[in-house]
Amino acid sequence: MNYHVKCGRHSGIPECCIDWFVGPWSFIRTFGEEWALYWQMNDKDKGVEYIRCPKCIEESIVIGIKECVCENR
Ligand SMILES: [Zn+2]
Ligand SMILES: [Zn+2]
Repeated sequence: MNYHVKCGRHSGIPECCIDWFVGPWSFIRTFGEEWALYWQMNDKDKGVEYIRCPKCIEESIVIGIKECVCENR
């Protein structure tokens, strides 16, 4: 299994955000316009320590990250 998916789950990141991270997000060009816009939106809520999916950004859902202690890290 993709370790992003595995450790995302260990960290308590919602399934929808993991799907977004390993899917559409990985196709967004780093430092592109879409990328910049994303960070602007992701940062509008406080205490966000992970990549949120657009739906969670829309609904201002922020999950407190648990520490992942497995070897994949
Ligand atoms: Zn892990
Ligand atoms: Zn989400």
